[in-house]
Amino acid sequence: MTSDASDPIPPHKTFDTILVLDFGSQYSHLITRRLRELNVYSEMLPCTQKIADLGWTPKGVILSGGPYSVYWDDAPHVDPAVFELNVPILGICYGLQEIAWTFDNKNVLAGEKREYGHAYLKVERHGDGETGGHVDKLFADWEDNTEVWMSHGDKLGHLPTDFITVATTSNAPFAGIAHTSKKYYGIQFHPEVTHTPKGKVLLKNFAVDICEAQTNWTMSKFVDQEIERIRKLVGPKGQVIGAVSGGVDSTVAAKLMKEAIGDRFHAVLVDNGVLRLNEAKTVKETLTAGLGINLTVIDASELFLGRLAGVKDDPEKKRKIIGNTFIEIFQEEAKKIAAAAHETSNAGEIEWLLQGTLYPDVIESISFKGPSATIKTHHNVGGLPKDMNLKLIEPLRELFKDEVRELGMNLGIPEDLVWRHPFPGPGIAIRILGEVTPEQVRIAREADHIFIEEIKAAGLYRNISQAFAALLPVKAVGVMGDKRVHDQVIALRAVETTDFMTADWYPFDGAFLKKVSRRIVNEVNGVCRVVYDITSKPPGTIEME
Ligand code: GLN
Repeated sequence: MTSDASDPIPPHKTFDTILVLDFGSQYSHLITRRLRELNVYSEMLPCTQKIADLGWTPKGVILSGGPYSVYWDDAPHVDPAVFELNVPILGICYGLQEIAWTFDNKNVLAGEKREYGHAYLKVERHGDGETGGHVDKLFADWEDNTEVWMSHGDKLGHLPTDFITVATTSNAPFAGIAHTSKKYYGIQFHPEVTHTPKGKVLLKNFAVDICEAQTNWTMSKFVDQEIERIRKLVGPKGQVIGAVSGGVDSTVAAKLMKEAIGDRFHAVLVDNGVLRLNEAKTVKETLTAGLGINLTVIDASELFLGRLAGVKDDPEKKRKIIGNTFIEIFQEEAKKIAAAAHETSNAGEIEWLLQGTLYPDVIESISFKGPSATIKTHHNVGGLPKDMNLKLIEPLRELFKDEVRELGMNLGIPEDLVWRHPFPGPGIAIRILGEVTPEQVRIAREADHIFIEEIKAAGLYRNISQAFAALLPVKAVGVMGDKRVHDQVIALRAVETTDFMTADWYPFDGAFLKKVSRRIVNEVNGVCRVVYDITSKPPGTIEME
């Protein structure tokens, strides 16, 4: 499969763009996010990017932080051509040190003391006099003693030639520096993290006031441009196929395709027998009647459940069975749709495969991992095989999750779908610990349905990032209606997280848990106990298998 390199109008060609060059800091992508929250479009590329190969001119460049020391022999360095672009440049931490290194060789050294955590920043203003005022712009609207967040061990020995100090902390005499005639700035702290409360003001000062980037990156503008882009890419006859799951990403991508090329986009929903209660039906209604998407639903539940029978102790095996069966069915269906489309209309062959890849996946594949590490190639999110010979179309590949949600609202996708919790591809098969049988599926589904219903009724659904009921592979004793029972145990799991890399369990109040537990035991046949999972991630994972 090829990626859409033939892209006719990428956003950096139509929106003023701030380029973030990534030196491998764990926060680099946050710089891009913050700028987009300010409605300024921003893209991240590795620090090794050759400026001559860029093919477009950014309005400004930000050099990120990074784990290296600029004075190491194998330290990464920015293409010096960046200083010939004639646009403002802001260096953050390693980026500041890189600017100092470039302008004043060997001017960075290891500090005596590492500085990690909060510091209080004092702004030094210079007035309009000698510099024409641009040096004060970075810290406009900042007060003295503003909290900033530091994470560094190296420091500048002295000011580089033609730079002046614009901010200090008690430990960092060069917490902020600016070039006296060019719009080059460096800061030792991280404005992109929430621990620097005024960080966004600084990024706005840089992007909007100094770089003069327009604040026109909005989802309504993106929709129009993206529809235009898809139409050009696919052409007047081209056909696209894509799997949908009822999750926010695939639904938004599908709706966008529908708006762009109507019924030449073919959505396929595979019912694998381990979807949530009534899900195949609800998704079908929303996508077809509600959103007008050309959808084929394939009920393959028997095939999936048949293949899952007898698999007890190996969660990976469950995942593989479900993944492979899915591919098999999707491919068969793609052939059928292609044949039918060919016969009934003068449409072209199906050449394109829709994927709901998001920007974090792209970032993950391009972020700078250092001189020795190999850069990971982008994994195929849907896991579809190469021999399908389809070109990829990824309309969400420039967007963060919150932007996808906003886009969804913009496209008229119902709010409860836009805010849906993530649901794994292998479905509740990996929430049924032990063997997946139709009876176990029934129990897990019903319990999950009650839990989610109560979370919604309590107005907590959006506070929680992901919640579900799992079925444990054990039995416990209980008394129901004066009779001794020996039945199964449901484990409830609910977590809060911003990035799904780490997560905390959600602190429900006792009355809420009591209500959910009572309902599940009363209403779900086969369950006599309910427990709540109080494991964070790490050491736990969000899903149970
Ligand atoms: N490695 C450099 C230092 O320790 C830069 C750190 C950073 O960019 N966060 O100062």
